[in-house]
Amino acid sequence: MIAAVDIKITKIAQSKLSDVNLENIPFGKYFTDHMLEVDYENGQWGCVEIKPYQNISIAPSLAALHYGQAIFEGVKAYRNPSGEVQIFRPHDNFKRFNLSAERMQMPTVPEDIFMEGLKKLIQLDANWVPSQPDHSLYIRPFMFSTDEMIGVKPSDKYKFMIILSPTGPYYNTPMRIYVEEQYVRAVPGGVGYAKAAGNYGAAMHATAEAKKNGYDQVLWTDAFEHKYVQECGTMNVFFIIGNTVITPDLGAGTILAGVTRDSVMVVLKEMGFAVEERELSIDEIIQAHKDGLLKEVFGTGTAATISLIKELRYKDYVMEFDTDRWEFSNELKNRLNAIRYGTAPDNHFWMYKI
Ligand SMILES: *Cc1c(COP(=O)(O)O)cnc(C)c1O
Repeated sequence: MIAAVDIKITKIAQSKLSDVNLENIPFGKYFTDHMLEVDYENGQWGCVEIKPYQNISIAPSLAALHYGQAIFEGVKAYRNPSGEVQIFRPHDNFKRFNLSAERMQMPTVPEDIFMEGLKKLIQLDANWVPSQPDHSLYIRPFMFSTDEMIGVKPSDKYKFMIILSPTGPYYNTPMRIYVEEQYVRAVPGGVGYAKAAGNYGAAMHATAEAKKNGYDQVLWTDAFEHKYVQECGTMNVFFIIGNTVITPDLGAGTILAGVTRDSVMVVLKEMGFAVEERELSIDEIIQAHKDGLLKEVFGTGTAATISLIKELRYKDYVMEFDTDRWEFSNELKNRLNAIRYGTAPDNHFWMYKI
């Protein structure tokens, strides 16, 4: 059991919920009435506060702005048919958050602050959890350094916050993907496995170049040979080849260990697939395509769940797919969603009731 943590709650005078239409809300644009905030100083975490969602005031010398000690998480809460709100695998996000913290030389956040804070905050803003199909409450825990001093070193002070954003369906159209050979996302020994803010800023240029050429995202490849696939944009990637599903393994530390990735592997095995986590080269993918064995390709992540890939381009070789005829990735998405929205039994104990 985790110890009860003291949380100081200041409620908003009047909820802003009536100003927002919870149907078809764009991703990440609206925030709920409250947020959680706690500061780390002198080697310890201070008073945990839940207060009305508001701006924070920062000094121009704020360390995070200069040296990038900043990490985040992405979690979702869903409303089940009886109206209860449940969070999908938040303990996994908690563990990953602290892995990211350690890699970025930041303090870890105690489990009671993270979990109890999350629970209390969502309880308070429970009316903001949408009930429409494919809608959910996106939860964004994050931490950044707050020393007010320009000097390259780990900060002495940090701020941990959680904000909540009701959200509708994410990218729902199948994606065109460009296999990236110039820019890289992650290298062995680097921070690819951490949800560190800089990883996303560092990826934007390559993505923008791909977009200029009509692609939605890039498929990242390894830094040495540009041959082994890693991730698709900010999603883990899966290839169904024959009766086997292959996803890149986590061994080199270049891949973010997605909670959706892990869940998808469990559900795919239940669907009867052999699942392999291993190195996968673009040559092997192309060969499978030529042999007619490459059946379905998709990305996975909390924001989008499963995103189908309708085109993969490597140099001049273009692989196009008729995603309307795919069945496995859609079944996978339905099975996963049924667990999350509480219409199928939660045999894996993935759902955390608030
Ligand atoms: C967050 C993220 C994912 C997906 O992780 P989930 O836990 O499934 O949301 C995959 N790749 C990258 C780079 C990410 O940042």
